[in-house]
Amino acid sequence: MIGLLESRYPFLRNAQVVASENGAEIGDLMSGETFAQARTRGVERVISALERSEVEHTSLRSDIDRIEEIMSYPYARILVSCVNDKFLTKRYALAEAVHMNRLLGQEPYAVVHNIASELGVKTRVVDEKLQMHFSDYLKYSARIKSIEWKLVNNELKNGYVELTNDKFARVLQNALQDRIESELPLNVPEAIEQAIRPHVTYIENQLAASKSRFNMSFTGELKPEILPPCIRTLLSMAQNGINLPHSGRFALVSFLHKIGLSVEQILALFAQSPDFDESKSIYQIKHITGDLNGTEGYTPPECGTMKTMGICYEPDELCNGEKMNHPLNYFRIKTRNQQG
Ligand code: SF4
Repeated sequence: MIGLLESRYPFLRNAQVVASENGAEIGDLMSGETFAQARTRGVERVISALERSEVEHTSLRSDIDRIEEIMSYPYARILVSCVNDKFLTKRYALAEAVHMNRLLGQEPYAVVHNIASELGVKTRVVDEKLQMHFSDYLKYSARIKSIEWKLVNNELKNGYVELTNDKFARVLQNALQDRIESELPLNVPEAIEQAIRPHVTYIENQLAASKSRFNMSFTGELKPEILPPCIRTLLSMAQNGINLPHSGRFALVSFLHKIGLSVEQILALFAQSPDFDESKSIYQIKHITGDLNGTEGYTPPECGTMKTMGICYEPDELCNGEKMNHPLNYFRIKTRNQQG
């Protein structure tokens, strides 16, 4: 069977070697019937990244399927480079990385070990268990916020952290995402860009539609004047690219979730920030809303806790009233007044 591993993981250095050995050259990829299917799959990779933050799996039954899958990867990267939009690049990198993570879950540890080496992650196998050097573990797991990922909560053996295959693959997801982001955009020659212009335009249009969806989903549904001053301030900070303290981000997301906003709607609010990092935001939001582990999610802190944490910003007359003990109470009173 030709190139099964390389087609599942087309970012491997050997993938293009396998393709080339089977007569598939990047130079022939841009036009002609031979690689029309690979180009279509390349577009699919980018669109599915945009729409679902994940590259969808495809059938790899025949040799032709596998070579096309390998070739679709550089085509997708070229498309993303031609569009050259920070949001799309990040989203595409995340989607490829999530795709790898899903596939790695079905692999024996030896394959996971090989992929880690390819990504420059220092790894060893002891008694058939995967261990990652603590420096790489810290580098790539720092953005995963739940407590179980803290280094102190994992077993450290002579400088290596022992991980289950699933957790190992999750850390590698971040390593691949960083690598793809750092490699893009590629320097695409003008002639190639012209040859693939229809696909580039199609993706640009989908991207514009997706961005306007993000921008529209919030306005009109939630009026700033019914938000408690603390939440209004936190929201305005987030939208102006001001780094929120962890407690502030937590209070804001949990509040918005409890009043009924979906993950996508909360994401839309954060998307207005100039330094919006979608992959990071999705993870943080889903963690707080409980979407990551199928729970109800966290309840926002009450006013007393907000005060202690220094994020009770600009309390107004209603806040200073006797019964005000929770930002959700403030919201309920304001909503009732609006309706009545
Ligand atoms: S009193 Fe409560 S609702 Fe008002 S700003 Fe402070 S934390 Fe928010």
